[in-house]
Amino acid sequence: MTTFAELGLAPDILRALDEMGYVSPTPIQEQVIPLALKGGDILGAAQTGTGKTAAFALPLIQRLLPFANTSTSPAKHPIRALILTPTRELAIQVEEAIQAYTKHVPLRSLVVYGGVNINTQIPILKTGVEILVATPGRLLDHVQNKTLLLNQVNTLVLDEADRMLDMGFMPDLKRIVALLPAARVNMMFSATFPEEIRKLADSILNNPTFIEVARNTTAVTVTQVVHPVHHERKRQLLAHLIKSRDLRQVLVFTGTKLGCNRLANELNKAGIHADAIHGDKTQQERIKALDAFKAGSIRVLVATDVAARGIDIEALPYVVNYDLPHNPEDYVHRIGRTGRAGAKGEAISLVSESETRYLKDIEKLIGTTLDPVIVPGFEPGAADVPSYQSRPPRGDRPGRSDRGERHERSAPRPAPGRDTLFDAPYVASDSVRAEPVPVLVRPTPKKQVAALFRSPLKSDNAGQ
Ligand code: AMP
Repeated sequence: MTTFAELGLAPDILRALDEMGYVSPTPIQEQVIPLALKGGDILGAAQTGTGKTAAFALPLIQRLLPFANTSTSPAKHPIRALILTPTRELAIQVEEAIQAYTKHVPLRSLVVYGGVNINTQIPILKTGVEILVATPGRLLDHVQNKTLLLNQVNTLVLDEADRMLDMGFMPDLKRIVALLPAARVNMMFSATFPEEIRKLADSILNNPTFIEVARNTTAVTVTQVVHPVHHERKRQLLAHLIKSRDLRQVLVFTGTKLGCNRLANELNKAGIHADAIHGDKTQQERIKALDAFKAGSIRVLVATDVAARGIDIEALPYVVNYDLPHNPEDYVHRIGRTGRAGAKGEAISLVSESETRYLKDIEKLIGTTLDPVIVPGFEPGAADVPSYQSRPPRGDRPGRSDRGERHERSAPRPAPGRDTLFDAPYVASDSVRAEPVPVLVRPTPKKQVAALFRSPLKSDNAGQ
């Protein structure tokens, strides 16, 4: 899995993405960002929901970093990037995203659109902004009023070009493009490519790379929560979370087959209907458990990484990492089970002290720091035996077999009447593999800090 850091984005941008909960790039971002960072022209076939805004905005911002400054002189803040959108709604949305992406860099952005008093926009333009998001008509009003200059624009983005054409903006676009310096980077995004759009692309773009993403590649949002807890209290904490938050359709990952069975048993004893799927279960057993889970008759499905590969449940709301995976990529695959098909999901990780190094690896891979949230009554220092636990707790550092699933080391002797599955030999039987979906992960939301300078127009015009 590619991370934003691997795409070559600067630390201050990565920090902002982290705070926004972006972990991994969407397919369009993965393709556009490296190319655009190099300054190549791009023709993108992408709709809203694919993450196209960040795809063009992030490299644009990065390329402006050498110009970022905190000077109060307007001359130090000429318009360097121009983003044109067909509607005011899209313009506002794009500029809001840019504000968030530039939170830690001294670059100014502003949105201007028609239908509101132009005089409210002029004073801000006069103070200077590096990134201007505009609807074409209003931009030309400002040009005519001489309230802005476009002679230092080095990046042009046409967003939703087909809609701009539909709305009759073609003449305006031509006029605007004629005002821009010839040496610039151009990016054009459109959902459709009728002849007129191709002609427009030919006239504006310089040897562009055509990038297309599947229509159904939708941005997925997963809230990530990390609960530090003593390893002996994980079962109790899980039961507590499920009951107190009334969680349903919870997919729980354990690191071992043994732990998988045991946890399902313990949850059942705690009154939470659960089943387990792992490498020792036949494909038929797994399908049965999965069907029951999908139908809602099983509230919790406990699974190992190997067994979970074939799971495909639309919009699974909760994934719990009962044990953190030792391989950070597994974490991304696991949480990719939630929030699928554009729905929101939550990934909850129960992290014991000995797992903090795995958490660090995961954070490194996803480029995000996951803030720990201690559940009252489950402070990590406090270990006690859960009331419903039927056998002594084990350590949480399982060994790894060479078959893909981990087996606990030095397991105690089987208790009488124990689930026979505990003793069944391991047979790797996973033939079903699912492609990992692009995972867009949102950590526990942090406090939003209002950008004081940028875009006062948005609030001025709210509700208009
Ligand atoms: P867009 O297609 O640009 O309108 O983006 C759709 C939604 O996905 C917006 O709410 C973005 O904030 C969000 N989004 C875009 N890229 C990512 C990402 N890599 N991770 C998480 N969310 C994202």
